[in-house]
Amino acid sequence: MSYDYDKIEVPEGGEKITKDGDGLDVPEEPIIPIIHGDGIGKDVGPAAQKVLETAAEATGRNVHWMRVYAGETAREKYDENLPDETVEAIREHRVAIKGPLTTPVGAGFRSLNVALRQTLDLYANVRPTYYLDGVPSPMKAPEEMDMVTFRENTEDVYAGIEWEAGTEEAEKVREFVEDDMDFDGVMHEGDIGLGLKPISEKGSKRLVREAIDYAIENDRDKVTLVHKGNIMKFTEGQFGEWGMEVADEEYPDDEVFAAPDSLWEEQDEVDIPEDAVMVEERLADAMLQWMQLRTDEFDVLAMPNLNGDYLSDAAGAQIGGLGIAPGANFGDARCLAEPVHGSAPKRAGQDMANPTALILSGRLMFEYLGWDDTGELIRDAVEETISSGKVTYDLERQIEGGEKLGTTEYAEAICENIEKLS
Ligand code: NAD
Repeated sequence: MSYDYDKIEVPEGGEKITKDGDGLDVPEEPIIPIIHGDGIGKDVGPAAQKVLETAAEATGRNVHWMRVYAGETAREKYDENLPDETVEAIREHRVAIKGPLTTPVGAGFRSLNVALRQTLDLYANVRPTYYLDGVPSPMKAPEEMDMVTFRENTEDVYAGIEWEAGTEEAEKVREFVEDDMDFDGVMHEGDIGLGLKPISEKGSKRLVREAIDYAIENDRDKVTLVHKGNIMKFTEGQFGEWGMEVADEEYPDDEVFAAPDSLWEEQDEVDIPEDAVMVEERLADAMLQWMQLRTDEFDVLAMPNLNGDYLSDAAGAQIGGLGIAPGANFGDARCLAEPVHGSAPKRAGQDMANPTALILSGRLMFEYLGWDDTGELIRDAVEETISSGKVTYDLERQIEGGEKLGTTEYAEAICENIEKLS
């Protein structure tokens, strides 16, 4: 093995996960890079790592963690936010997990999360949203929520192509848009900030393909493409068109059924081949409503970047909030698991944040390795812990008679349940 890292310590045991055709070749004892993260990452990172390795061991496996650095810990070690060797280590090992990283608000500081996703071309952000028994929720029937959101991860307004108001660049772009592109009089006089919203055929199609393949493999009934194409016709609208093209042209009709005119017509009367995955379109604003009012009608959602960000947080709230919402970013034969939540600076370093979201992100990562039994054990042990009333502060304040545990104690309680259930 030819490792040449400067500050990353390579574990003595374990082997690299490699690519095998379209999939992965996972050794018995893989090396997995881990970023604990900023803010509450310092609390939930080590706690989740302990739970994940306990579950792996309980199912006869062994993970060799390799600490890699980004954000605050990287500034301390390397004097920069995202060292090249962190990106290279994740690229080289293919599957990794990270806690949250802080993005200070303001110009000149690019989100490290977005940078990692773009550099590694992790084009699909996947967030399964399902109810865990015992978790307090604002909904009457939270158990109806069982959705998986696929959010495009590399383009849209998150591509970072924007110009600050008052700069020469912003004025140049404005002039071009007004004079050369004939949009005179559309923008207000005076200073104006501008941004671009690129949405490509390639980016849209590969994301929708991923969502459809997931639906087929996991016996889901429906993929809903969520966009705002009635207003943003050549970006969001094209996303919908390209997505429906994938459904229509790349799969046999009895496997995937592209619902005609689903944006404007109810699909109750449509004759769908038995066992086929139906692919339909919905407008993003209406979808936020349907998600709450008709939760059980939706299954897999595929969306451009911004819609995906909003909708997946809203879906997470329906099943108990950010502390338990997991996620993972996928590219071709690559996975970087990360929770939906951020670094919650107000709660940082107090051993109180909820590590569940990071633990369940680890579950997703293990399932990607084909370790389904490890994943199931993690879910069962988390559910057992929460339903016995042992919870962190965020859930404790919403339930009666709960026992408030710190991050470390809560993780220990999950580990005990892992031992008990295995
Ligand atoms: P946040 O998710 O960090 O926190 C919002 C609120 O949710 C917190 O105040 C807290 O009350 C609660 N919360 C979140 N996670 C929790 C947990 N594990 N346990 C208990 N309560 C929890 O969102 P924010 O305040 O908007 O962002 C803070 C920072 O995190 C920003 O710098 C932002 O850019 C960054 N961020 C990073 C990621 C990522 O790393 N992928 C994602 C979102 C935000």
